[in-house]
Amino acid sequence: MKCYMCDEPATSVEHAPAKCFFPKGYRKDLITVPSCAIHNNETSKDDEYVRGIIVSCSGNNSIALTHWRGSVRSGYLHSPKLFLKTFSKQIDSSFFHDRKRVDDVIIKISHAVYFKEYKKRWQSYPTPFYYNFLFDDGKADIHERLPNYKDIPVWHIFEGANQSVFKYQFFDGKVDGHSNCILRMIFYEGFEVIVIPRSEKLELDYSYKPEGL
Ligand SMILES: [Zn+2]
Repeated sequence: MKCYMCDEPATSVEHAPAKCFFPKGYRKDLITVPSCAIHNNETSKDDEYVRGIIVSCSGNNSIALTHWRGSVRSGYLHSPKLFLKTFSKQIDSSFFHDRKRVDDVIIKISHAVYFKEYKKRWQSYPTPFYYNFLFDDGKADIHERLPNYKDIPVWHIFEGANQSVFKYQFFDGKVDGHSNCILRMIFYEGFEVIVIPRSEKLELDYSYKPEGL
């Protein structure tokens, strides 16, 4: 069997999202996909970084809060460096995170759930858009930069065995007039990502740093 992200033979299975997103009691039937050595476990530090950001976003359910008070916080006690990396850049009440690192983790999860749903590799560039992240102009990219995907008639039903922690659904339809499928993922019933496949990689300017940092 081939890897969920490349054409190399799979040598193991990869959890998507990573186990660290799921508190104890919510780890039944986690999503796994066949993976080569390169696309498995190489990003566990990235997973923890992104987990901390997602768990701490407002609008999540109480499971996120409990998770924060439990293993997320003890992870930071264990690695204060990780905490500083995640939460040291703040202006007023907004934190600035490493958007590229978040995107990379979200893109990997997107590839995995696509593989799970369609039993083949996603042959385009899944591109994430968020409600919770603001760009330098103060606008959420999900409203300002998302391609037109209105008038969606039917989403597939939500998938995932632990939906209060993570669930996803696909829609097969048209984006900007082209047939495509759209992915929507929701963490902790609050943090939402819309993933649109593109034929070319969307080059975001990751170098932006707000004044004062
Ligand atoms: Zn691979």
